[in-house]
Amino acid sequence: MQEMQMNTENVDRIKKIENIEKIGKIKNTEKIENTEMAEKIENTEMTEKIENTDQIEKIDIKSMNLTELTNELSRIGEKAYRARQIYEWLHIKQVSDFDEMTNISKDLRNRLGGAYKLTVLRPVKVQVSKLDDTRKYLFALPDQNTIESVRMKYKHGNTVCISSQVGCRMGCRFCASTIGGLVRNLSPSEMLEQVYRIGRDLGERISNVVVMGIGEPLDNYDNLLKFIRMLTDEHGLNISQRNITVSTCGIVPRIRELADEKLQITLALSLHAPVQGKRLSLMPAAAAYDLDDVIEACDYYFAQTGRRMSYEYSLISGLNDTKEDAQALGRLLSGKNCHVNLIPVNPVRESPFVQSDEGAVALFKNKLEKYKINVTIRREMGRDIDGACGQLRKNYS
Ligand code: SAH
Repeated sequence: MQEMQMNTENVDRIKKIENIEKIGKIKNTEKIENTEMAEKIENTEMTEKIENTDQIEKIDIKSMNLTELTNELSRIGEKAYRARQIYEWLHIKQVSDFDEMTNISKDLRNRLGGAYKLTVLRPVKVQVSKLDDTRKYLFALPDQNTIESVRMKYKHGNTVCISSQVGCRMGCRFCASTIGGLVRNLSPSEMLEQVYRIGRDLGERISNVVVMGIGEPLDNYDNLLKFIRMLTDEHGLNISQRNITVSTCGIVPRIRELADEKLQITLALSLHAPVQGKRLSLMPAAAAYDLDDVIEACDYYFAQTGRRMSYEYSLISGLNDTKEDAQALGRLLSGKNCHVNLIPVNPVRESPFVQSDEGAVALFKNKLEKYKINVTIRREMGRDIDGACGQLRKNYS
């Protein structure tokens, strides 16, 4: 109850100052049916009006790309090379205070501090898995909301799993991140900072980023896109687009929009059931888009980008792991250039679902392979610290 109150207050406060990070405009409503979920999506996606201009916050300098920063600085009479220097301080050296920018004059540093805010995430708690060295970070955002991010260590390098929203409004029945609903979107700087702070904490390079933490990334589309472009910018961390994966529960117009960007990132679709009815019973957000339309959008993503689609399928004992489910999934995806990730559903204490046993998982994989589909069983990491898929939360308990 107390937590809900805090969330409501935060939402109100953010609405008042939301002159900078407006929620994305709705661009494609034709296909949304008149369901409760569709209405919810539509209502919150409308551009927020600026109601209280006297409460304007300082501009978030770390959410500006290099072009925007160059333009901003030229407005105050500074040359382009200064913008590049400052960009490097922010995105490569990743300073947490303007005064650390030692090749920038004191006067300019003061002016920057007066006009801009420098977003830094504060690690509140770090948990390290005894099983596989996975690390889960609880970060405090500048407004004191909290989110979680995870570092997984693989042979090929460090992967960071980041959150894209504080909470989530998609309501998937097996996922802890959606309990308590959505509080707000994360800004590009707050997404970047998760990668930066973890890299600095480890003193190691981060080679891969997956947007599979808390939130629905395509529900925060504009900020997500900016985050990806800045993360892959040669003037920043310069992470390869091919090393970035975005996972979505299937917001059709946004999948198509993303496809048209022709980025080289991997798109993962959370499928979890091979037919609309069963999918809807697990994922309320499926009410807005028929499964056929979701798959068609994924085909379009592949056609536009040449990137093989990834489908995620959490196996729940007796619910979506039967022979019939495997066959229906096989028929749905057969002939497509795609990859299926099977994930025995991870325990979430509020949820009744039980994960499929090893035998059922192996059988399911076998059946799917008969349809010539690439399948892997995902090795879950960080289970002992609740750091695996669907176990992340916006607050600690
Ligand atoms: N909102 C996005 C990304 C976040 S969840 C999405 O829906 O894709 C990342 C993945 O973990 C998704 O495939 C999600 O369905 C899955 N997931 C959620 N809860 C899970 C659980 N308890 N066990 C296994 N996977 C889960």
